[in-house]
Amino acid sequence: MNENNPPRASRRHILLAGAAIIASGAALKHSTAQAQQKMAKNLVAYQDGPHASGQKCSACAGFEPPNGCMMVEGTISPDGWCGAFTPKPS
Ligand code: SF4
Repeated sequence: MNENNPPRASRRHILLAGAAIIASGAALKHSTAQAQQKMAKNLVAYQDGPHASGQKCSACAGFEPPNGCMMVEGTISPDGWCGAFTPKPS
């Protein structure tokens, strides 16, 4: 090897680089799918009634009317509450 004749990438290195790019794309797709999964109600201590403080799902940023939530799976009552409560921006 000298400055006038740099080493060329071998076919093996090119194939390995391509495989790494494909693998990283698959990993990104997998992590996106995981991010879209909702949590089970028991994991966030969901309850059908409001919190003692008065917080309730209809005032949460995660609430999706009429009975859904972007973070918690299943039917969600507008008057319910869970530990993931996040107030809607005012
Ligand atoms: S409090 Fe918010 S995050 Fe929790 S179930 Fe209700 S809407 Fe979803």
